[in-house]
Amino acid sequence: MADAEPSPQAGAPRLPAAEALFDQLADAAYLIDPETSRIVWGNRKSWESLGLSRDEVLDHSVLSLQKDVHGLPQWSEIAAAIRSSECFRFLGRHRHQQGHEVEVEVNTTHFELDGRSYFLSIARDITNRVAQEVDANRREKQLWFALNEATDGLWDWEVPTSTLFFSPQLKRMLGYGPDEMEPVLETWSSNVHPEDRARVMAVLQEHLEGKRARYEAEYRIRNRNGHYLWVHDRGRVCECGPDGQPVRVVGMVQDVSDRKQLELQLQALASSDMLTGLANRRQGTIFLKSQVELCQRLGLPLGLAFIDIDNFKAINDIYGHLSGDQVLRQVGQVIKGAVRGSDMVCRWGGEEFIAIATNTTLEQMALVAEKIRQAVVQELGGHSPPVTVSIGVAAGSSPAIDVTALMAAADSALYRAKAAGRNRVEVARA
Ligand code: GH3
Ligand code: MG
Ligand code: MG
Repeated sequence: MADAEPSPQAGAPRLPAAEALFDQLADAAYLIDPETSRIVWGNRKSWESLGLSRDEVLDHSVLSLQKDVHGLPQWSEIAAAIRSSECFRFLGRHRHQQGHEVEVEVNTTHFELDGRSYFLSIARDITNRVAQEVDANRREKQLWFALNEATDGLWDWEVPTSTLFFSPQLKRMLGYGPDEMEPVLETWSSNVHPEDRARVMAVLQEHLEGKRARYEAEYRIRNRNGHYLWVHDRGRVCECGPDGQPVRVVGMVQDVSDRKQLELQLQALASSDMLTGLANRRQGTIFLKSQVELCQRLGLPLGLAFIDIDNFKAINDIYGHLSGDQVLRQVGQVIKGAVRGSDMVCRWGGEEFIAIATNTTLEQMALVAEKIRQAVVQELGGHSPPVTVSIGVAAGSSPAIDVTALMAAADSALYRAKAAGRNRVEVARA
């Protein structure tokens, strides 16, 4: 320890053992003459941290270390403040010999020794801490922006407690104020559209169980006025417990109502018949295929009816195309009114329609067809010439329903109905 013992400057108390200990400190220590502000002693760190030699430090006024303090008048104020407090603390910047600045936190105490007064300043380099604070501050501002100003709403779900944080922007999206919406899962789930809820919950559950990499769903959610918004919602488990179970899930919600509205309009346009408003042939084909699959899976029969207006050409010829169009619309409505809500009626083309009825046998479908035929006679039979329809009926029963065969059977039954004199129902032969 002998070589760690510096010889003290004149005026400094002699504390050889303590000085050696002070040299081991990670902080810079300065002993200051309260009258002149001169440094009368410093530990190793005091000169090393400033890029000075020991002798150079001892030459300095403590004020010269500081970046922002100039002149003695201020020193007398500082010295008075140090004397009047038990420990005087300030944050400042020390000037390093190489030109850069060192952020420091300085704690100064005063004491008397051998009838003389001293200040002891301990300066700690807090450059890293200040940088971290600046960084944290910046991140806090980003987070504030994301929560309040970004167009997406954020949510943060603590799974074990069912607590759900809704960001101010998310609340605004749904028409609520910052203090509304109780932060529980139920607030969200109870406002998801009943038709979408099971699907959305299933997707979320699959993600929680690790079967999906992320949770993502598009659904309707009720706003404060009771109207439904379409939202795109996506999230991810971001924290798991020691048992691997999800503890925290964070996500983002975007209002996609405008886009969804347009999408639904386009979909409706693409799937409906302009003249009658019924489903068009494309939609009818998709529906027929899906129902055939469903019936096969569940072991149910499927009924099909081909409906063709009799002598329609004559109606056009006598009354013109516009009246013909009107008759097409009326026949479409009459057919629609004669079947169940779950059955589909589509305009197959020209003056032909088809009706598709799930879970319906050939006999039942023949009755449906007869009901349609009679309804047309009832509603439009008074026209001159009377408007009537011929209908060909077929049905498939699982396990072997074939779309092409089913349609061919209905078509040939229709042909027989026409051949047999029109305004009648014919059933496909086995
Ligand atoms: P049938 O009893 O044998 O079915 O005789 P039909 O006259 O109904 O059959 P045909 O196939 O000879 O004529 C169908 C007519 O339907 C011909 C066509 O101009 C008319 N048609 C097809 N689409 C439309 C439409 O959108 N509007 C109008 N007004 N007529 C249409
Ligand atoms: Mg025809
Ligand atoms: Mg016809």
